[in-house]
Amino acid sequence: MDHLPVFLHLRAAPAVVVGGGRVAQRKIELLRRCGAEVTVVAPGLNEELAERAAAGEIRHLAESFQPHHLDGARLAIAATDRKTVNTAVSEAARARAIPVNVVDDPVLSTFIFPAIIDRSPIVVAVGSAGNAPVLTRWVREQIEALLPGTLGALARFIGERRKGVQEALRPSARRSFWERIVGGKVGSRILRGDEDSAQRDFERELRASQLTTSGATGARALGEVYLIGAGPGDPDLLTLRALQLLQQADVVLYDRLVPEAVLERSRREARRIFVGKGATQGPRGPHTDQERIHELMLRFARDGLKVARLKGGDPFIFGRGGEEIEMLAHHAIPYVVVPGITAALGAGAAAGIPLTHRKMAQSFTLVTGHPLQDAVLDWPALARPHQTVVFYMGVAHLAQIVSRLIAAGAPSSLPAALIERATLPEQRTLRGTLETIAALAGEAHICPPALLVIGEVAAFNGDAAAQACGTPREPAESVLDSGDATEGDLV
Ligand code: SAH
Repeated sequence: MDHLPVFLHLRAAPAVVVGGGRVAQRKIELLRRCGAEVTVVAPGLNEELAERAAAGEIRHLAESFQPHHLDGARLAIAATDRKTVNTAVSEAARARAIPVNVVDDPVLSTFIFPAIIDRSPIVVAVGSAGNAPVLTRWVREQIEALLPGTLGALARFIGERRKGVQEALRPSARRSFWERIVGGKVGSRILRGDEDSAQRDFERELRASQLTTSGATGARALGEVYLIGAGPGDPDLLTLRALQLLQQADVVLYDRLVPEAVLERSRREARRIFVGKGATQGPRGPHTDQERIHELMLRFARDGLKVARLKGGDPFIFGRGGEEIEMLAHHAIPYVVVPGITAALGAGAAAGIPLTHRKMAQSFTLVTGHPLQDAVLDWPALARPHQTVVFYMGVAHLAQIVSRLIAAGAPSSLPAALIERATLPEQRTLRGTLETIAALAGEAHICPPALLVIGEVAAFNGDAAAQACGTPREPAESVLDSGDATEGDLV
């Protein structure tokens, strides 16, 4: 590194710029932006600078440069097109130990100007030690595109509250508190310009953090639990919030349904523990009962760790998420719930089966096909037309499910589809009817996880529908972009 990047505080500091043209003007504008008192030494000024001088914003000395002009200055800039003048400024500044920049001349300069991204108070400076100014600007553009325009508002929001948080929280709790503010709801609300609800969430978050750090007893701060929906399997279907929290977690407790590709998105140093359920021991580890999962969550959180409880699909849909938050609340462990794409939505999208469709289904129901629930299900309601019924955990009991539906009045010709390992590379889709689906599944050796979709939409074929009404099938975009008019034609 040839230069030390620093941020100079120049408010009300005297700065001298030698030169009165366009280049000098650009530097003067920068100096004014950070509040410096600028004196311009130049026999003449360009029009804009003359106006600024007349308005009293800058001081103008209409003289040729003399070394004594730099007496008392905190910073000097030479921006003339005369090498002798620039050299004189550089020498006079060095003699007085004043930092000096000679525009476009790194040899005569003791500091250089970086390319700047200004989201004050967040400022990013990029430099190449004078080697590659065009590359420097390119880097700046890349970073600029990444940073939200409202980043400054977030920095101010935090700056205004830092002292209060210092008083409210012990040092050990502050860092994770601010991480939650920046990476969580409060941060995203400020970036969206919604300061009122950000303030409410901030206060809630602060209260929660105060409750979890026991200043009185000097006990270790409590950790927290993130109940994260991992989606149906494809790691690209994780939410941004899920990714952010997976990157923060110290321990990941994951289910059988969570594939390796999703686990890989967690922090590399995080400890990963399999806590899947299942009648037999699977390849990833033994069956873990719910009590044991509760125990692990409690233990790690009490050790002050951030625990990601990673579940397939959505934590609140057949995921026992409700029981887990009851337990956490009972033990006063803070938690966050992150929704995930539930298997039915993932499978619908991946198999091209819309769960509702204007002419076929006005509602959809997600049902557990687990035999323990059999008696409590309202079979006549599930057998009614104009709806879609999706059975989770139904593979082992397909024959019973379809015979119950037929007995409750559903036609045996009602379309049914089975989607195995939806959204994963090994996904398989079988289509049939209530009458045929169980036998088809047997022949194809369909295994869990799979979903049974029942209703007219199970026979939906977007391609055929598009062809039937003359819509060209090929470019996917044209179907996506076609809007309501075309969708109307399709039905
Ligand atoms: N919380 C999960 C459901 C857990 S219950 C969610 O919201 O999706 C487990 C059942 O979900 C499985 O038996 C299966 O029926 C279904 N399932 C989960 N992932 C699946 C996938 N990728 N493909 C098909 N079915 C899936």
